[in-house]
Amino acid sequence: MASNSNGSSANGFKLPEIKFTKLFINGRFSDAISGNTLETRDPRTGNVITSVAAGDKEDVNLAVKAAREAFDHGKWPRMSGYERGRIMTRFADLIEQNVDELAALESLDAGKLFFLTKIVDIKASADALRYFAGAADKVHGETVKIAGEFQGYTLREPIGVVGHIIPWNFPSIMFFSKVSPALAAGCTMVVKPAEQTPLTALFYAHLAKQAGIPDGVLNVVTGFGSTAGAAIASHMDVDKVSFTGSTAVGRLIMEAAARSNLKAVSLELGGKSPLIIFDDADVDMAVDIARTATFFNKGEVCMAGSRVYVQEGIYDQFVKKIAESMKNWKVGDPFDPHVHQGPQVDKKQYEKVLEYIEHGNREGATLLTGGKPCSEQGYYIEPTIFVDVKEDMLIAQDEIFGPVMSLMKFKTIEEAIEKANNTKYGLAAGIVSKDLNIANRMSRSIRAGTIWINCYLVLDTDCPFGGYKMSGFGKDNSMHALEKYFQTKTVVTPIYNSPWL
Ligand code: NAP
Ligand code: MG
Repeated sequence: MASNSNGSSANGFKLPEIKFTKLFINGRFSDAISGNTLETRDPRTGNVITSVAAGDKEDVNLAVKAAREAFDHGKWPRMSGYERGRIMTRFADLIEQNVDELAALESLDAGKLFFLTKIVDIKASADALRYFAGAADKVHGETVKIAGEFQGYTLREPIGVVGHIIPWNFPSIMFFSKVSPALAAGCTMVVKPAEQTPLTALFYAHLAKQAGIPDGVLNVVTGFGSTAGAAIASHMDVDKVSFTGSTAVGRLIMEAAARSNLKAVSLELGGKSPLIIFDDADVDMAVDIARTATFFNKGEVCMAGSRVYVQEGIYDQFVKKIAESMKNWKVGDPFDPHVHQGPQVDKKQYEKVLEYIEHGNREGATLLTGGKPCSEQGYYIEPTIFVDVKEDMLIAQDEIFGPVMSLMKFKTIEEAIEKANNTKYGLAAGIVSKDLNIANRMSRSIRAGTIWINCYLVLDTDCPFGGYKMSGFGKDNSMHALEKYFQTKTVVTPIYNSPWL
């Protein structure tokens, strides 16, 4: 395992120099007014990578002021969708030109696998910009025929100044799943990245300016949730907050919006998604899908399928095969291309996951694999699978957000439906079966925003993504996401002397 956190190499890989550590407000990098900073750490070691500006309420006020000015008087909302799209496409090109540096920064800050970050996260970021760039000039209102001598039409207008508050597990993807549709709609914005992973967001601010996005349109305020985040959520001049994070903080955001200016809110929250494997499944394929569903990105995935239900006919075979398959699952330095799983994002998450594992042991579940930390330093945890899990155990109910699978057995399809829905969340679900009738019935019966059949975690900018129940409301990705950043105005006018209407 590499021990270098802010030096020059990891596994022979040249780590990037950290170029951007200040707030980005009105087109300029600046220190926080208070002069405060926060440390961002390398989860491979726990060592400090660098300090970045810790913005607070006063900094958010400045950023919102800049965004307000850019919205009320600037050219971004007033230029054609086509022009905005051209600039966004340039932004995407710049991301691709800097892909190695961006992927390395993201891996360093969040412990994500470098080679996957490059081909998944950074690519998806540029793709999202291009998708919404293409949509920016294809937005139309309607004409309305009104009874009597009137006619009406609707205008699709950008909603205004948007606050985007995002988490640390997919820092780049989250940034662009929010920023891209908002830019396309003609909004101006303030982004608050998670305190654990501020580095790529600041780099994107720099690239936005290079691409020609006017000053004030895209501001980035790094800082803590309880200060900078809360200031955005309660700001009287922010017209909408788009949030991704925990259900608990989502509730705070809604409360703050309700208590301030009733700003529009959309929430992408947590999950505890079921993966249901039927007797007719190909067991090897089911094992692969289950590993991806639970352990991808070290389990730090909101739609992780970590409640795995296996039908009784293949349960024993499945347990044997998944235990066997985990023997070649490598945990280690995320810059090593042979590694499957890097470190948890920070000490707090690492300790939280280990506490859940402890809880599982105390509640009487049995460890099939893992269950322990697996390094002297850094936040590495063994991929952990529990069997003998009961529905009401905390490990089967709570979102652990780490590499922990709960394996359970079921008999009938009715029981599978009931168990799948036995959660306050509704973000996603997976079904493994060759029987189309089973797959169809399950997909219609599960209350969740995304259903994967014989696959898991397959996402695309063109697929709406978001939760049911306490997993939130409002979609990211697809043309549904664009809707969140518009409001509709109806214009009515009389038409005189037009009896042919
Ligand atoms: P979190 O604690 O809810 O934080 C998310 C963001 O909100 C961070 O930027 C955080 O700032 C900020 N924040 C915290 N308290 C705030 C407050 N009082 N007012 C305004 N903003 C505040 O979530 P997390 O632990 O970083 O991320 C993990 C959670 O996010 C999981 O529950 C996961 O399921 C969910 N998630 C959902 C999706 C989805 O698409 N549905 C995607 C990814 C993650 P700090 O960084 O300073 O805490
Ligand atoms: Mg970090």
